[in-house]
Amino acid sequence: MIDFNIPPYVGTEQKYITEAIADRKLCGDGKFTRRCSDWMKEHFQVNHVFLTTSCTHALEMAAVLTQVKEGDEVIMPSYTFVSTADAFVQRGANIVFVDIRPDTMNLDERLIEDAITDRTRVIVPVHYAGVACEMDTILDIARRHHLMVVEDAAQGFDAYYKGKSLGTIGDFGCLSFHETKNLTMGEGGALMFQEDRWQEAAEIIREKGTNRSKFFRGQIDKYTWVDYGSSYLPSDINAAYLWGQLEQAEKIQADRMRSWNRYHEAFQALEEAGRVERPYIPDYAVHNAHMYYLKTADLDTRTRLIRYLSEHGVMAVFHYIPLHNAPAGKKFGRFHGEDRYTTKESERLLRLPLYYGLTPSDQEQVITAVYDFFA
Ligand SMILES: *Cc1c(COP(=O)(O)O)cnc(C)c1O
Repeated sequence: MIDFNIPPYVGTEQKYITEAIADRKLCGDGKFTRRCSDWMKEHFQVNHVFLTTSCTHALEMAAVLTQVKEGDEVIMPSYTFVSTADAFVQRGANIVFVDIRPDTMNLDERLIEDAITDRTRVIVPVHYAGVACEMDTILDIARRHHLMVVEDAAQGFDAYYKGKSLGTIGDFGCLSFHETKNLTMGEGGALMFQEDRWQEAAEIIREKGTNRSKFFRGQIDKYTWVDYGSSYLPSDINAAYLWGQLEQAEKIQADRMRSWNRYHEAFQALEEAGRVERPYIPDYAVHNAHMYYLKTADLDTRTRLIRYLSEHGVMAVFHYIPLHNAPAGKKFGRFHGEDRYTTKESERLLRLPLYYGLTPSDQEQVITAVYDFFA
């Protein structure tokens, strides 16, 4: 069976984990956490990076920092992972779902303005498959309506919008290092932002509501409980795993890109024959080969294709039951406008195996099986 995903492993992670253990530094904010955040600051041109225990938690931190309150509204796509919404629901916000663009599966920027009310506080673009949302338009709308922008860049590591790293463009950006993402630390993520004015508040939220970070820097002589917070800092053991991956990020990304391009070339003929649609990458976006998907004619074809692939040793998956159709989505949110594409497009999409180290022969087996199905 060709797995859908195998967590990336480059070989140095174990050495760094051993080093973290030998240093007797197992809790958060040790040497490896610092190395990882410094690496991201430099590579992504961003002033502040906080490693977190997950992207879900980075989104929670961002939600607290935006100060959304009970009854406020947050605009986001319905075609996304539950955490995008959960983080704001936790603050008591109501979620307003807006339809997606069928070409990128991202929030349709042309529909945002119509969904804004006097309760709207935040827009959350999700960069699906590491393909950028139309950020200039989104930022312009946010500026004109005094809204904040939190980028769900869980899939956006080392992907770009007009040269800018995803997750560094809005007020806050959140990355994921879950084992299903391009780079991993098992479970983990990062909160990123440019403006210095958030730094102290972010430190406090991440450190259980205390000013312990300031204390460790020697800026105060004792630390205390100063505001609401939780525990969002990962163990340095996890950061050590991530550090091994960051050092070889270029290699991991190049390997994924080779596989992505191979699929894309291979399925061109199938697209031209009208059997599937391939991902679309707008000119403004540089993607990161996070995901390779195909869209079939309809739900029934997708169901049969997934079954056929599974019978032929290939694990393909679909994801995202649109949130507004889910029980919690109905309870905490509403869909604004017409669901022209969210449900329809989500039912047609299936993801093919794509991971660091996918061998050319395994990939050929996937491609052949897809072609055989349509033959
Ligand atoms: C993976 C993912 C998340 C959640 O990331 P975790 O690190 O598992 O919390 C959130 N949003 C999107 C779009 C994702 O793909």
